Amino acid sequence: MIRIGQLKLKTGHTKAELEKKLANVLGIAAEEIQYYEIRKQSLDARKKPELYYVYTVDVTLQHQKKEQKILKRHGKNGAITEAKEETYRFPVNPSASPIPERPVIVGSGPAGLFCAYLLAKHGYRPILIERGAMVEERKKDVEEFWKTGVLNPSSNVQFGEGGAGTFSDGKLNTLVKDPAGRNREVLRIFVENGAPPEILYENKPHIGTDILIDVVRNMRNAIESFGGTCRFHTKMTRLSICDGILNGIWISFLDKKTGEKKEEFLEASTVVLALGHSARDTFQTLFEQGVPMEAKSFAVGVRVEHLQKMINKSQYGVEAHPHLPAAAYKLTAKASDGRGVYTFCMCPGGYVVNASSEKGRLCVNGMSYHGRAGKNANSAVIVTVTPEDYGTGDDNALSGIEFQRRLEEKAFEAGQGKIPVQCFRGFCQHCVTEALGEVKPEMKGNWQFGDVRGIFPESIGNAIEEGIRDFDRKIKGFASPDTILSGVEARTSSPLRIKRDETFQSTGVKGLYPCGEGAGYAGGITSAAMDGIKTAEKIAKRYGQ
Ligand code: FAD
Repeated sequence: MIRIGQLKLKTGHTKAELEKKLANVLGIAAEEIQYYEIRKQSLDARKKPELYYVYTVDVTLQHQKKEQKILKRHGKNGAITEAKEETYRFPVNPSASPIPERPVIVGSGPAGLFCAYLLAKHGYRPILIERGAMVEERKKDVEEFWKTGVLNPSSNVQFGEGGAGTFSDGKLNTLVKDPAGRNREVLRIFVENGAPPEILYENKPHIGTDILIDVVRNMRNAIESFGGTCRFHTKMTRLSICDGILNGIWISFLDKKTGEKKEEFLEASTVVLALGHSARDTFQTLFEQGVPMEAKSFAVGVRVEHLQKMINKSQYGVEAHPHLPAAAYKLTAKASDGRGVYTFCMCPGGYVVNASSEKGRLCVNGMSYHGRAGKNANSAVIVTVTPEDYGTGDDNALSGIEFQRRLEEKAFEAGQGKIPVQCFRGFCQHCVTEALGEVKPEMKGNWQFGDVRGIFPESIGNAIEEGIRDFDRKIKGFASPDTILSGVEARTSSPLRIKRDETFQSTGVKGLYPCGEGAGYAGGITSAAMDGIKTAEKIAKRYGQ
């Protein structure tokens, strides 16, 4: 197979034009191509408004001898090389003793879901437990919350089947290095379960809430068809540990028939903790049970909204490009006190969502549908906070959570239970906005004007203001007085890390596998899913089915 890199074509090109170009570059007739697959597509916007796609494509010819001839002619360097298939392989350990009980996975976010999927597929019959509702029911709960403001603390934007990423933009890019092919395996499994195939090659793959919901449901059905079990409305309440070795967990669940809450002991010597970053009550219990953990840095800030056409103009040179989707951006700056300020989780054509999971506390995030057709672009503008801002050391492992809670309480107060909104002018002048400008909030959940600046300690508020002003130098209009700010973005990543060793087991409890974002080993859907896969591999190395 031949790999062709740096193949440049104008955006809006046809399939036939791509095929002609492939043949031209290889110096063959189009009919000689048996099969081709796009491996990567990125955008070259250096000469905007003239925009180009740059492709890497794998090509198989009718005759292998011809492939060899072409490869020989082009040598080892350059844009035409031999394509090497990096196929992901799940490890099998034939000498391992069988797993004593079915492995239990706590949490059905990307980390838990992928861990369960891989273990189920390879015959381990995992039990996946999730405190929230299955995705169809959860969707209703979330929509009800956005409409009425009445929160269901166990079924919301953070909790429920699919985890935190279900009501999201579904961006799938990650910076995690991937020699083993796990990143592609995550995308492949998503596609196998209903995601659009373009995510396999797009430079910035994204799924969107509308499609993700179906993908999550399909993955659950697959897990069950492979022999796994999924239990919803089922919360792990504590671990059972004897001499540093795990022997089971306590769960509480809703009895489907009676609607009663019940307790049960699940015997298990292998438990994956894929809790996500919002399981504050469970973190507290684990801490009290002596599971080693430490506070870590994360970031807090606001969500900003601009008109999408302004972002398109800046990135593409035109307000609406005929062939390209709503444009994205990524910006960084340094505030005068040295703090890093950066944009995060940017949602082109998206919505700001009320992403709260605790009563009396409010946090926001962003989501979009697959078409990214909303009027506004939104993104978090966040500032790094370190344990020095809120307390360090093993005794203070939960101090980051307390810091988040204080900010979320202030946000709840600022908006009187609704998402607090302030235009950038008001944010700079420390006054509550009274009227909107050109940009109108595109929000899921009710909003009202409030003092967003007042949510933050002074140094963080100042850093956000400086950052936004700096970003205006890169995207004209970013710091316009009309720019909408809402808050608080407090759950950008986990405020703690549950310590694990090279076998991925907790450094204090044998058999316990802290995994994914909540345990501090991932940030985002894809990296959490990849950590879930790695954890499944570690279990498979230790035990056979
Ligand atoms: P989670 O997804 O948080 O899943 C943890 C699960 O564990 C939850 O379902 C929870 O209910 C369950 N759980 C917790 N405690 C217990 C317990 N005691 N018993 C049983 N179950 C429990 N990332 C991206 O890469 N791209 C995006 O576009 C993107 N957009 C986002 C938009 C929103 C609105 C939000 C909230 C997040 C977004 N993220 C995005 C972040 C992404 O969702 C997370 O990084 C990712 O979901 C983390 O995966 P996880 O499996 O580690 O944890």
